[in-house]
Amino acid sequence: MTTADCIFCRIIAGEIPCEKVLETDTVLAFRDIAPKAPVHVLVVPKVHIPNVAAAAALDPAILGDIASAAQLVADAECEGQFRLIFNTGERAGQSVFHVHGHVMNSGALGWDA
Ligand code: AMP
Repeated sequence: MTTADCIFCRIIAGEIPCEKVLETDTVLAFRDIAPKAPVHVLVVPKVHIPNVAAAAALDPAILGDIASAAQLVADAECEGQFRLIFNTGERAGQSVFHVHGHVMNSGALGWDA
């Protein structure tokens, strides 16, 4: 996978549209195109790193940037409370191999409703 055929790199480059929620120097947050919860935002680093473990090895500070951005998104959208999920590997549900945190909140009904 190179950045040229990575869909998230293309979103970051502005070649594919997204519903942007937040942008910092290092991350972009945008709404998931197929939301699985009332709040479902992806936080994506601007550098191409394939998964969360690779990020921890190559650029651990980016994980802090993702977590901080997730908190800002949740502060704005769901009273500061959120799940932050990193699917890692195809059999764990990862479909885009550019690390991203799913910021999710189930809304007023809660997860078990
Ligand atoms: P994962 O399956 O954990 O790799 O998450 C990838 C997520 O990216 C999925 O939840 C998709 O719905 C989402 N997704 C794929 N393409 C786009 C897109 N163009 N804009 C927004 N979200 C997308």
